[in-house]
Amino acid sequence: MVLYTPGRTSGYPEEEVKEGIRIHFLGGAEEVGNVGCILEDKTGTRILIDYGLAPTKPPRYPKESPAVDHVIITHSHIDHIGMAPWVVGNHRATLHGTTLTEAVSEIMWRDTYKVSSIEGYPLPWDMRDLDAALDAWQSHDIGEWFEIEAWKLRFHPAGHIPGAVMIEIQTPELTLLWSGDLDTRESPNVIGAQPVKCDILCMESTYGGKEHPPRAEEEARFVERVKEVVSRGGVALIPAFASGRGQDILRILHKEAPHLNVHYDGMGTRLTKYWLNNPEHIRNPEELEKVWRWARKVRSKSDRKKALDADVIVTTSGMLDGGPAIWYLNRLRHDLSNAILLTGYQAEKSGGRQLIDEGKIPIYGNVTQIDLDVNQFQLSNHASHSDMTSFIHACEPNQVLFFHGDDEARKAIFTEFQQNPKPILPLNGNTLNLSKS
Ligand SMILES: [Zn+2]
Repeated sequence: MVLYTPGRTSGYPEEEVKEGIRIHFLGGAEEVGNVGCILEDKTGTRILIDYGLAPTKPPRYPKESPAVDHVIITHSHIDHIGMAPWVVGNHRATLHGTTLTEAVSEIMWRDTYKVSSIEGYPLPWDMRDLDAALDAWQSHDIGEWFEIEAWKLRFHPAGHIPGAVMIEIQTPELTLLWSGDLDTRESPNVIGAQPVKCDILCMESTYGGKEHPPRAEEEARFVERVKEVVSRGGVALIPAFASGRGQDILRILHKEAPHLNVHYDGMGTRLTKYWLNNPEHIRNPEELEKVWRWARKVRSKSDRKKALDADVIVTTSGMLDGGPAIWYLNRLRHDLSNAILLTGYQAEKSGGRQLIDEGKIPIYGNVTQIDLDVNQFQLSNHASHSDMTSFIHACEPNQVLFFHGDDEARKAIFTEFQQNPKPILPLNGNTLNLSKS
């Protein structure tokens, strides 16, 4: 585990910046998630972008942040926001984000705290830090310029999930665009990200080297499979992330198969209320209101038992690492007319990955064989290789940095570019000094 000792920084250079911009990744350079990156220029303006963790067992954390007064949070996924209470507790930093990211942060942090207590991996921050973080927010509207010391900044929609942003930063010397987690395509709940002209582009590269099947076709294949399972008398169990994928699934099913009896369980039930209260971040929010009335929300133990007779159960966790999904799976696993439909990326060592590779999964500590059909669908909320390539060219940067990707993905997108823009592969803990061109 990374040691977080107050007052000690982890290898961040002490000398002043001479020109251009200094970029120093604390985490999230050569990995998906676990993001934290310090930007600084010669005016002494210094910000941290995102401060997350990787929810593995044990969790991984970015390197310790040097002192900062301002942190910009691109979106509310735990791999981007999980360590924000630490930086508020230790450096009294202000957190900048959208109103929706602010609203959802409390649920995300409380859940992280709860999971860490259950799993026995103490977090580097405590409840006092969490309370301080809740008071540390300063929210900004999309497209509205705001200032941090010598810099001007504004948010642009990043696609991905509601409330997720890209950050445009104008320093006295150059313009930098930070992509955050990005999708250029429209999805059920958000509009796609649009290019922004810049000198330096920091680009997430989760899907470097990979293409997605056309979204409409994949949604149709998914709906067909749900209908097949239901028509043979089974329940379709759909593990989905609480923030993004679960609500996408509900919208797809409501549109294509409104006759189905769909139950929704887990943290997403509380989270979606915040979405509804922040309609400016949602694509067609009236439609989401309708979907929300249509889906049956599981709110009690007896609701959960009733849901076993549903056609479809959409629930957390998305990677079958715990949550109500495991409770349902344990009860549904004996009837082979039921099926599991996985709709997202299943990380190494996750329950979902073990289920695909070995047909087994830990259920309350016992590795259990699962004989149900397991199907996978690609309903990603990240840009594909070709989406990324066209987005990068349209932003017209002189330099592009690829972060937030494993080695294979980053190399695949890196080799697309030689000059114009010049590609760069940053590493965690290394310092880059970049000028405008
Ligand atoms: Zn994300």
